[in-house]
Amino acid sequence: MNPRPKVVNIDSRHAYYAQEQAQLAAIGADMVLAKTKGDDDVIRVCADADIVLVEASPVTAKAIEGMTRTRAIIIYAVGYDKIDVAAATRQGIIVANIPDYCTEEVSDHTAALLLAASRRVVIMDRNIRAGGWFDFPKNGPIHRMKNLTLGLVGLGRIGSGVVRKLSGFQMRTLVADPFLKPADAPAGVELVSLERVLRESDLISVHVPLGPQTRGMFSTAQFRAMKPNAIFVNTSRGPIVDEEALATALREKWIAGAALDVTVKEPLDASSPLRGLDHLIITPHYGASSEESVPQLRATVMDSVRALLAGHWPPYPVNPSMSPRVPLKPWSDFGRA
Ligand code: NAD
Repeated sequence: MNPRPKVVNIDSRHAYYAQEQAQLAAIGADMVLAKTKGDDDVIRVCADADIVLVEASPVTAKAIEGMTRTRAIIIYAVGYDKIDVAAATRQGIIVANIPDYCTEEVSDHTAALLLAASRRVVIMDRNIRAGGWFDFPKNGPIHRMKNLTLGLVGLGRIGSGVVRKLSGFQMRTLVADPFLKPADAPAGVELVSLERVLRESDLISVHVPLGPQTRGMFSTAQFRAMKPNAIFVNTSRGPIVDEEALATALREKWIAGAALDVTVKEPLDASSPLRGLDHLIITPHYGASSEESVPQLRATVMDSVRALLAGHWPPYPVNPSMSPRVPLKPWSDFGRA
């Protein structure tokens, strides 16, 4: 640790870090705000960083190997797919995320997208803005929600929130989650294969982490397997979906609609095949945001930083079995005399 510990945010996209800088100054540490471009830049600004913070840019094995003093990399997010956790673990660097700050928001947003897509809210609004009014069949068929089948892929924190929030609509609920034990499935949820979710669901919503098993999980074969009236929603990570295949599925009417909060490239490319499709709703990766979640995120990152500077584990390491560069006391003892 530097005599005056140094926390480097390699990806400071927001303008609000003066508060964090003041909080750290009060405990004798510095927070450096950087907007790095590529590995060499990360290595340069992190050469003497004790703790590295990142919002959304990649942290590669090459950049991690250059972090010779760093104890931990903390991401301002739930998903940590952009960090090479294996490389960090090899270097004795803890990787920590903030897993629960936006469970309510993303499950709210998913419910909003599922309802907006199935009630055709956005296309009706677009038609009216273009000078139209009642525009059936352009709006597309609408089905009564009651007794439809809701299919979830991934039933962790956010998926469970979606099930709980939509329970009032009285749909049948199928879930594909190979890591969930049948005994842990909530009442009223049927644990089935992914194939059955695809084949039987009217509304399909994805809540899995991005990783080798889930990258490109929804491609031509999966969209082909869905019902023609299916609505597909993804609020997890863009690369889980093959966007060319989704665009074809919508254009060729293999499925009836889709809604995405996340895309492979963010912001979406001007030339993306997803642009201009009638029955597609896109929001700009905003599912996690609210007046409540962002302060909670910032506060939990700062709790993690303070714990590390005081010689403790942070609350949410994603590689908790690794051997840190210096021995650390448990998080549960942090703050106790
Ligand atoms: P979680 O870890 O609580 O749940 C993930 C679930 O996916 C787990 O139950 C796991 O068993 C399951 N799973 C893993 N691999 C699977 C597979 N191959 N098939 C089916 N199920 C699988 O995570 P969470 O809090 O529910 O978040 C889910 C994802 O949402 C995150 O990983 C993140 O990428 C994304 N997210 C997006 C936003 C946003 O702003 N849109 C915000 C937060 C999180």
